Amino acid sequence: MDAIITLIFFIYGLIFGSFFNVVGLRVPKGSLFSQTRSYCDTCERTLTWKELIPVFSFMIQKGKCRKCKEKISPLYPFMELATGLLAACAYMRFGFTPGLLMGLLVISLVIPITVSDVAYRRIPNKILLFFLPLFLIYHLVFPVMPLWDAFLGVAIAFILLALILFLSKGGMGAGDLKYFTLLGFVFGTKGFLLTFFLAVLFGLVGGLITMKRTQQGAKTAIPFGPYIGLAAITVSFYGDTLITWYLSLLGF
Ligand SMILES: [Zn+2]
Repeated sequence: MDAIITLIFFIYGLIFGSFFNVVGLRVPKGSLFSQTRSYCDTCERTLTWKELIPVFSFMIQKGKCRKCKEKISPLYPFMELATGLLAACAYMRFGFTPGLLMGLLVISLVIPITVSDVAYRRIPNKILLFFLPLFLIYHLVFPVMPLWDAFLGVAIAFILLALILFLSKGGMGAGDLKYFTLLGFVFGTKGFLLTFFLAVLFGLVGGLITMKRTQQGAKTAIPFGPYIGLAAITVSFYGDTLITWYLSLLGF
């Protein structure tokens, strides 16, 4: 039975992942609902249902548009698959507890922002503002941590990121600041600090890997959003475990 529910979460994750791609691609252009059907970015032809099956359509069409043969970015099936797997993992991790809802909310926030940041180097305010009241409701309905901790998380995130933004002079964007500030509200003080630490760690590892591959070094600007997202998902899944473990190392 559990395996069936996990599979259902995976399939719904694939479908939502497909929707999150659309959100991430259209919201920065301000046109989420102006065209209801999905279309090919190159030839602008409306896609048929056969071309809209998450992951499978991409594989069957060998990553190309059926008509104009233009390459489709592997980002889209990757994000669909990632959403499916993460949704299934969230169920396996939490079962039907409030943690599952938090996990799914964080996934729903992170995936479209990652798509948008990779595609346009933008973290849309609209997506951040859409999720703010949802996380507020979560905190009010499931008071896992006191609300003041969420607001303290906001203050610390804002001050720390504003300082980095000021000192780095373009190394980090205003979008990253707003993204981190929302995550401060989502995870509270400790959770935010862990998210920040992990994002920097993942960013350094990812930066080293891509630097080797592109051979252009630090000149290529790599969006930081995907690393923030990866960190946020890690914290939503294992934040409590990691914080408890770290505090025990310090002797608390
Ligand atoms: Zn096309």
